[in-house]
This record gives sequence, C-alpha cells and structure tokens, in this order.
Amino acid sequence: MDADTRPSPSLRGLPSVDQVLKTPAAAPALERHGRAPLTQAVRAALAQAREAVLEGRLAAPLSPEEVALAAVEALEHRARPSLRPVFNLTGTVLHTNLGRALLAEEAIEAATAAMRAAVALEFDLAGGGRGERDDHVRELLVELTGAEDATVVNNNAAAVLIALNTLGQGREAVVSRGELIEIGGAFRMPDIMARAGVTLIEVGTTNRTHAKDYAGALGEATGLVLKVHTSNYRIEGFTKEVPARELADIAHAKGVPLVNDLGSGTLFDLARIGLAHEPTVREAVAEGADIVTFSGDKLLGGPQTGFIVGRADLIARINRNPMKRALRVDKIRLAALEATLRLYRDPERLRARLPTLRLLARTREELAALAATLIGPVGARLGAGFTVEVADCASQIGSGALPLETLPSTALAIRPSNGSGGALNALQAALRDLPVPIIGRIAEGALLLDLRCLEDEAGFLDSLRHVEVPA
Ligand SMILES: *Cc1c(COP(=O)(O)O)cnc(C)c1O
Repeated sequence: MDADTRPSPSLRGLPSVDQVLKTPAAAPALERHGRAPLTQAVRAALAQAREAVLEGRLAAPLSPEEVALAAVEALEHRARPSLRPVFNLTGTVLHTNLGRALLAEEAIEAATAAMRAAVALEFDLAGGGRGERDDHVRELLVELTGAEDATVVNNNAAAVLIALNTLGQGREAVVSRGELIEIGGAFRMPDIMARAGVTLIEVGTTNRTHAKDYAGALGEATGLVLKVHTSNYRIEGFTKEVPARELADIAHAKGVPLVNDLGSGTLFDLARIGLAHEPTVREAVAEGADIVTFSGDKLLGGPQTGFIVGRADLIARINRNPMKRALRVDKIRLAALEATLRLYRDPERLRARLPTLRLLARTREELAALAATLIGPVGARLGAGFTVEVADCASQIGSGALPLETLPSTALAIRPSNGSGGALNALQAALRDLPVPIIGRIAEGALLLDLRCLEDEAGFLDSLRHVEVPA
C-alpha cells in the first residue's frame, strides 16, 4: 500500500502550509526570502514531518511554529552564499585555495566604484576617441619595473601562454630540464608549451644545466629561450643553473628573446621586512630578459592578474595576438589593480596599507600577544573536552614564493582532553561549519590555528560562539 494514502490520525494532526505561513516565526523569513522560497521550504518541512510520523519517529504532534522554525532554518542554510568569507588560520598567507591575496582598502574602493558606474575603460577622456584598457596601468608598471612597456591578462598562466604563443608558435622554446615546473592544477610547463604551439627543447639535466647546453640547442628554429623561476621547489646539492644575465647574452647572440617567468614576482624587496630576498621584477628586467611574466595576486598583493612587461616591440606583438582578447581583464579588476600599483609609489606606507605585506611582516611577539588575549575565550567556548595552549609555529608565504622560507608565528594549539584524534577531526569539521568558517591545520596531534592572518579577533570570537562542540 502507498504510504501517503494510508489513513493515520497523526498525519491529520500536522498543520497546513497556510497555518505555518501565518506564524510569527515565518513573518521575518517571508520578508527576507520572499513567498515562493518560503512556501517551498514549508512544504519540504511538512514532507519531512509526514515521513517522521509514518516511521513512528515523532513522539508529540508538531505545532505550526515548530514547522515554521524548521523551514526557516533550512531556508537560511540554503541562502548562505557558496563563496563565503572564512578565517584563514592555516598559516599560509597566500593560500591559493582560499583566494590568495587580500586586497588593500584602496583597491576595494576602486573596484566598488567601477562596479557601480560606467568607466572610461577604453575611452580617451582627453581626446574623446577610443582608448586602450592597458593604458590605466601601463605607465605605473613601466615606472615600477623599469621595463619599456607592459600589458596585463587574466593571470600569470595566461601571460606565459600568450607570450609563448606570440614569440614561439611553430618554433622551438629552449628550457632547462630543471625548470619544467608543475605549479598545480593543470599548469605544467610542457603542456602549456604544446597548447601554445611551441616545440619544447629541453636542455641540461634535472640538477645541472650549463651555458653550453643552451648555446648548443639554439638554432634556426629557435623562437625563444625560457627561464622559469622554480617557485614551489628547490633543487639542492650538486646543482648548476645559468644566471638570467648570462642566459640573456646567449639568447641575444643568436637574436632570440629571453622570456623569464618569475611566478610570484615582487615589486618590493622582501628583505626590507626581514625575509629572504625574492627576485624583484625590476631586477629581472635589468638582467636583460626581453619579457618578464608574473602574478597579480601572489606577493604583489592585488587581484588575480598576469603581467607581461618588457621590450616594447614584443609587447606590441603580444597585444596584436587574437588570444589577448580572450585573456583580457575586466574593469573591476583593472580598477583594483591600478589602485594597488599606486600604493607601490609610496614604499614607506606600503607595509601598512597592503594586507599581504602587513601579514607577512607580523612578528611572533605581536602574534603571541594576540594569542594571550584569545586563549581564555576560546578555551571557555570549547569547554572541558579540549585544551587550548599558545604554541610557536611556522607560517609560510604560499603561492610559490620562497618555498623553503618559513615565518616564526604563534598558534592556538587545540588538543582533545582525552587524546582522541577523532575528536580533533570532528572539531575541525565543526569549525568549517560556522557562519564564518575557521580553517586551521592539524599537526602533531593538535589543531593549530595560526594567528598570522587573524586581524578581526572580534569577528573570530563572534563566529566561534556558534560552534557545536563535538562530544
Ligand atoms: C604561480 C605561477 C604561475 C601561474 O600563475 P597564476 O597567476 O596562478 O596563473 C606560473 N609560473 C610560475 C613560475 C608560478 O609560480
């Protein structure tokens, strides 16, 4: 017999959709979400109640209020945006899976303004004719890198793709075997080369490549020499690479350009905030590379972008490539980018204004002081099932900048009082389920919340108030 047609007195006891919609609990949800979504949620809640009745899982009859509360909760849950802010307490400042760089307030304002209004994107306000979208950042990039000219595309992967395609399609690109990188996802240099229509000529060995290896590979069919910053790994021990300056001379002697993919690249000397020196874009240009490519949302601290800077004649060829249109950036990002680059004109205040640098520059002492203020409220919130301690830890930059360099940092180390690893995983899941999820990392039997990227303590504690601590 069909379950729904089976007569049952308690089924008849369930409220009607109308009764539920008229409850005080439903009123604010009606205002917030609209009638159709709320009605649908009420129907779904009633269907669940009906099932519970039929399976004998319902002890007491449900009131209209109770059904309304269940419907509203389901509706609220579904109304949460999929792309939500989180607290990045992983210790990786530029976390690709968490969206990399946080933008400066100046960039956020510029992007917001560009979203609200028409902008002179490709419109020359002086002459009234057509303009170029690159014009908004070209001068800044030239000033900040020392290059002759510059253009921007969707991301650095796109920058590499279009540079290779423009300079090397149907020809050969010479690369060291030690630099045939995989960045993650589907970005593997040999695959990108194939898609760019370039024939890969590998030279040297995994650990050692010499000047003569390059020189011997250059010939009639060579379109370019490519140097790739080994951004997410180091080959150590018995190694040899050819410095960019020497490589530029070798390429130029044969009349071919040197393309240097810097990956993260930076416009700021990280040594100024006590980190190891990461090659700056200006240095790469000065070393003689004809084209330098780098990312906007790694160390530079801006929106996702790929920069291509270098010789004016080559940039002009890249701009004429039909791929450029497919890889271009929109007005929102261009506005954020221009505002970010402007901040670099004032290096003294850059550290305070640019979140990426500000977070990287925080000292362990600063973070330990922050930890001292949090340990009490966090411990109280998690209850007797967990212990919370202040612990030294090591943050990393992320996104392939200085892969072996770590930053001394401080974490809240959370351990289950009964020592069970299952409790830690359950707590990690509960923190991911918060209104603003808290993302930490598990290491050596503890859930570490690295405080380097925590700037909104009040928001953090507020979100933590909602945690359902696992038993
Ligand atoms: C990160 C990186 C890329 C890809 O840059 P995206 O901006 O992520 O597209 C390419 N090359 C190197 C060396 C990198 O480090």
